[in-house]
Amino acid sequence: MKAIFLAITLVLASLSGCFGGGDLIQEKKGNPGGLALACLQDSQFTSMELIFLYEEGYEPEASDLLKQRLDQECDKSTIRIRKEIVDFDHSGSWSSDDVRDQRWDLGSDAMQGNTLRWYFLFPSGTYEKDSVLGVAVDASTVAIFKDSVADAEGFLGRPSAEEVERSVSVHELGHLLGLVNLVYTSPRDHEDSENKGHSNNDGSVMYWAIESSDVGNFISGDLPDEFDEDDKADLNGLADGSISAKDQIWS
Ligand SMILES: [Zn+2]
Repeated sequence: MKAIFLAITLVLASLSGCFGGGDLIQEKKGNPGGLALACLQDSQFTSMELIFLYEEGYEPEASDLLKQRLDQECDKSTIRIRKEIVDFDHSGSWSSDDVRDQRWDLGSDAMQGNTLRWYFLFPSGTYEKDSVLGVAVDASTVAIFKDSVADAEGFLGRPSAEEVERSVSVHELGHLLGLVNLVYTSPRDHEDSENKGHSNNDGSVMYWAIESSDVGNFISGDLPDEFDEDDKADLNGLADGSISAKDQIWS
């Protein structure tokens, strides 16, 4: 009996060695919008890193624009951009789980000390539904599918693939900020009734058609790459506490 007990103890000890450290205290991944307040307020996270993990040939076009949009909305003393070429260990189309797995394998915690890190992945290939240009998959992770973005370029290059990528990138950033109504209820009526989590204003980057490949058919003229007044009012309300936020993994 004593020998069996000792054997079990040894097995448990070796298991806890395998899963020690990171896995046992693994950070919660949350849902898009789950780190909105961590960005919008400065009580803990005074700096931010935007980390772009991309496959060779898939360099992001909108990194400076994303930094600029965050500067406008979030209370941070510094926002740094980091770009890394990576090899995603993946073949075939991508599911949301695939995106999450690669981000957490290759990247590190979203919250470290006073730094908040958001990840933008640019893989080759398409999402499992190939009309999808971008996805936000948890509180700190977005993927943009540049092969699909290239296909979404409009007739005669209007909108251009670059314009589409800029809009989609800011749109997914907006989801990490909790837009529209992902982690709060807006006092303004601007959520599209048939496309939850999106704006009904085609002048907002959060317009529902932005992340879909037929975006060129829905919007004539320039694609929006900015939040509209209602989006901004929601973000201001979350920041100053006049709109209450739910499902925050940090607050
Ligand atoms: Zn969306």
